Amino acid sequence: MKIYTDNRLLSAGLIGGTFSRHTGNMCDTQAQRPFYEQLGVPADNIAHFHQTHSDRLITITSNQDLQALQQTPLQDADAWLITAAHCGAAILTADCVPLFLWDSAGTMFALAHCGWKGVVQQLPYKTARALQQAGAHHIQGWLGPHIQSCCFEVQQDVAQQFSSSSIVHKQGKIFINLNTEILHQLQQAGLDTLQIKTPYYCTCGDAENFFSWRRDHIRQNLLSFIYKP
Ligand SMILES: [Zn+2]
Repeated sequence: MKIYTDNRLLSAGLIGGTFSRHTGNMCDTQAQRPFYEQLGVPADNIAHFHQTHSDRLITITSNQDLQALQQTPLQDADAWLITAAHCGAAILTADCVPLFLWDSAGTMFALAHCGWKGVVQQLPYKTARALQQAGAHHIQGWLGPHIQSCCFEVQQDVAQQFSSSSIVHKQGKIFINLNTEILHQLQQAGLDTLQIKTPYYCTCGDAENFFSWRRDHIRQNLLSFIYKP
C-alpha cells in the first residue's frame, strides 16, 4: 500500500492522501474498504458522491449529516466540506486534481475533484471560500497526483478558458498548467499560497504508480480520501 500525502495533514490530526495504483482500481467503494481498515479508518464513515465535473459542494457538519448521506443514493457533486469529527470523504481521479484543503487546527477540511472543467468553473476558489465561510482561518493545502503540464496538451477551445499564465506553449502545441491556475484561484480566495504544496507527480507520465485516462483510456481510478478521527 502506497499513499501520497502531506505530513501537515497528520500534524492537523487528519488522515488522508491519494493511493497509488498498486491498490488496484478504486471505482467500486467495496474495493476501497480493506484499505481504510488497514489505516484504522471506519469505512462506513467515509462519504461518497457521483462526480460530474461540476462546481457543486456537499457539506457535512455532523454525524447525522453523514448518516443521512449514507442512506440515500449518491448525489452529484465534486467537492466535500466537512466540519465534524469521525467523518470523512472520498473522491476518485485519473488525471484530475485531488485538492486537499484544511484548517491547520484540523477542525474543518475539504476535498475537491478538480478536472479542468471544474477548474474553469472556479471549483478551487469556491471550495476555499466555503472553508473560510465555515470559519477556517489558517488554511493549508496539498494537490495530489494529477496530470501535469508535461502531458496535459489541449486544443485552443480548452486553452481559451484558462488565464494566459496557466498556458504553456511548446513545439507548436498548447499545454495547461493546472497547478498555476489552482494556485491563482486560491490566492484570489485570500489563501496564503505558500501554505499550498504542489508536488510534481504526473499521473499521465508515471504509469508505474498511477492510472491515467489520458494515457490509457480505461476507466480506472485512484482513490483520494480525508478523515478526521
Ligand atoms: Zn507528465
